[in-house]
Amino acid sequence: KPAILWFRRDLRLHDNPSLIAAADRGGPLIPCFLFDPDRPEWAELGGAAAWWLHHSLSALSESLRMQGLELLLRSGPTADLLRDICQASGAARIFCNQVPEPQSIAADRSLQRSLAEDGIDLVIAGPPLLFDPPKPLNRSGEPYQVFTPYWRACLGEQEPPAPRPQPPMPPAAAGPAEAGSAEAGSGDGDPLASEDLADWRLTPTAPDWAGGLCAAWTPGEAGAGARLDGFLDAAAASYHRARDLPDRVGTSRLSPHLHWGEISPQTVWHAVRRTVAAGGMPEKAAEKYLAELGWREFSHYLLHHFPSLPRQNLNGRFDAFPWSAPDGDAATRNALQAWCRGRTGYPIVDAGMRELWTTGWMHNRVRMVVASFLVKDLRIHWRTGAGWFLDTLVDADLANNSASWQWVAGCGADAAPFFRIFNPVLQGRKFDPEGGYVREWVPEIAALPDRFLHAPWEAPAEVLRSAGIDLGETYPRPVVDHAEARRHALSAFETIKDAA
Ligand code: FAD
Repeated sequence: KPAILWFRRDLRLHDNPSLIAAADRGGPLIPCFLFDPDRPEWAELGGAAAWWLHHSLSALSESLRMQGLELLLRSGPTADLLRDICQASGAARIFCNQVPEPQSIAADRSLQRSLAEDGIDLVIAGPPLLFDPPKPLNRSGEPYQVFTPYWRACLGEQEPPAPRPQPPMPPAAAGPAEAGSAEAGSGDGDPLASEDLADWRLTPTAPDWAGGLCAAWTPGEAGAGARLDGFLDAAAASYHRARDLPDRVGTSRLSPHLHWGEISPQTVWHAVRRTVAAGGMPEKAAEKYLAELGWREFSHYLLHHFPSLPRQNLNGRFDAFPWSAPDGDAATRNALQAWCRGRTGYPIVDAGMRELWTTGWMHNRVRMVVASFLVKDLRIHWRTGAGWFLDTLVDADLANNSASWQWVAGCGADAAPFFRIFNPVLQGRKFDPEGGYVREWVPEIAALPDRFLHAPWEAPAEVLRSAGIDLGETYPRPVVDHAEARRHALSAFETIKDAA
């Protein structure tokens, strides 16, 4: 009897627990990907993420084809599709990996129960994390809300297991192999007929808004491996020093690959350890890098323990914060639009927002700066910013995004205190001192001398003129005055400071 391998956010063949379990069992295999907008993992799929998914599925389907397997692509209600495929192929067992989000886990549980009534076994492998939530817990048996003791407790556990290689591939089941060569797109008829990825309406190629996604990324398992190798060869050795500088490739840029499960965190962990052992990365750099993977773990751990993290302030005191309403007054609406488009008049903020729009990614330091600007200078709710990120990031991730926005806003776990408000000019001067980042993304002010680059309004008229800048025309004046905005933010914070 064939078995079904149901891919979701695990788009790889190496170190893939559900593939290994399915292969161990023996017998033919039907790999499939099902798009169901009613499933929690797809309900909020953003534009950039949909672009990534499309290309990643294309890469996966090619890798499977080279192993003699055809990836079955179908859209519709998951339970019906799985039942149909089982019925048509005679399969009674489905293997998948968990999507580490509470709603998805709950949906899996009810799916498992409902399929069991038809004699179908849904086997779910553990989450794509180094350490399984709900553990570790603190001494009182509560979840940690501070990163350092959490991570120390994780590191005190066993080292994450070494990644496992791709197993010998099971043969294809007769049905889908034949159906793969049959006419595509016949989703309503034969349940073993695949829909055609090229015009699959649910994974559009369109959101390469600025044409930069294709140039910046190679979605898929091979792209993930190349990205890891490139990082370990070049940037890893100085990660601890360069990770905060957005004008260079100082970080791994593995976030979308990790989000889509094109590479396992265990693979990354052990590759880093091997690089250290071979003398290619100082311990200090590795410790810092693995701690960043730790923040990914911590975010998922928080989402596990606090499933309302994407919607509710972890610190309830912030529920009463007087946010400006973007759908209310025109000034706030305009400011939000300026933020989204990278036209706030603060070069480091604008550079980040344009990098995001063009490449679907933004450097972590700049994510913190633009998020702080939205939440504190513009006093717009962090959920509005988180929503924009979820639509435009290729690494849009419910756990990482929600936890990070709450962290910046001051209402999250181990959060930056609200009153520590980033000054976008000083952040620019400190982390982009030579202006390479701003000049790349905000070319209309590139000719300004370094000392005015992060605050063009401070430049004398003749400097602006000789740099070809007509402030307010070729580049916006600041949408708010930072010093004034800071005062407003602090007095808004005063109103909730003493709340329980
Ligand atoms: P590296 O520095 O190379 O780090 C390696 C890996 O560790 C990353 O790929 C990522 O998986 C993980 N990681 C690094 N920093 C963090 C962090 N602070 N929190 C959680 N995991 C981390 N990351 C996402 O993956 N998806 C998001 O939607 C997301 N939204 C964010 C929103 C805001 C407001 C902020 C401040 C940060 C957000 N991050 C998010 C975290 C972080 O910015 C990115 O993970 C990181 O920039 C990815 O680049 P990299 O792969 O080069 O990171």
